[in-house]
Amino acid sequence: MEQDKSTYIKTQFNKFLGLTPDDTQTEKLIKYYEMTIEKNKVMNLTAITEFEEFVMKHYVDSLSIIKVMDLNGKPYSLIDIGTGAGFPGIPLKIMFPKLDITLFDSLQKRLVFLDEVITTLGLKKIVTVHGRAEEFGRKLDYREKYDIVVSRAVAELTPLCELSIPFCKVGGCFISYKGMKGDEELADADRAIKVLGGKLAEKKEFILNTKDNTPESKDKDTEKDQNSLRLLIKIDKVKPTDNKYPRGGGKPFKAPLYIDKTSK
Ligand code: SAM
Repeated sequence: MEQDKSTYIKTQFNKFLGLTPDDTQTEKLIKYYEMTIEKNKVMNLTAITEFEEFVMKHYVDSLSIIKVMDLNGKPYSLIDIGTGAGFPGIPLKIMFPKLDITLFDSLQKRLVFLDEVITTLGLKKIVTVHGRAEEFGRKLDYREKYDIVVSRAVAELTPLCELSIPFCKVGGCFISYKGMKGDEELADADRAIKVLGGKLAEKKEFILNTKDNTPESKDKDTEKDQNSLRLLIKIDKVKPTDNKYPRGGGKPFKAPLYIDKTSK
């Protein structure tokens, strides 16, 4: 059974990502899945519990940033804003052990679970930090300290840029995982990206969880297929972020840095 799971991970990682995890890595991924499912009985961690779906929607999706960023053997510092149950941070750590990872979230109990995962899997150079991004993005120990900032399923892109870009070093990048509304959100975030010191570097669309992973296979007619459309948005940090950002008091959400506020 474990062998079946290991083979499934290896096959899917190879097919969708061109990655070849070794046995130790697949063992860790299986153990992390089991721990998440067990903890999910007493804490809200994920709606996805079936193994194959979990591998695709959590693991393959988390690792998909390699489509816009080479992580192989790189000792980059990376912060995962709103990591929740550890996505994308934990799969990235398992597959790219040289990364120096900070798992950041405002919900302490999820981080307690992630500390258990880190200890059980024997992961090194990975820490959890509890706080709100709009506060920690102003702290000297965190502000402009990371080569890579990532965030998945936390907020709409405009407020998310204000929460995330301040953590990023000049010369580093912020990578946002988005779904079918990504293009729309990106158009809205144009001004925010510039104001915060960023520059759109790349956007990469791909299909997750389909047999035929080609652009031609996109069938936009059904909601299910729409949901498997993924968009990675890579924003380079080209200038320091002005000290007035991130704003407190819920402003990134209440008064987002849209292009034209009246249109919202
Ligand atoms: N990134 C994970 C994933 O893709 O499965 C979790 C997504 S979950 C929907 C959003 C997470 O972001 C939650 O764990 C929440 O506590 C955290 N979060 C939301 N706003 C935050 C903020 N301002 N600062 C830090 N964490 C935040």
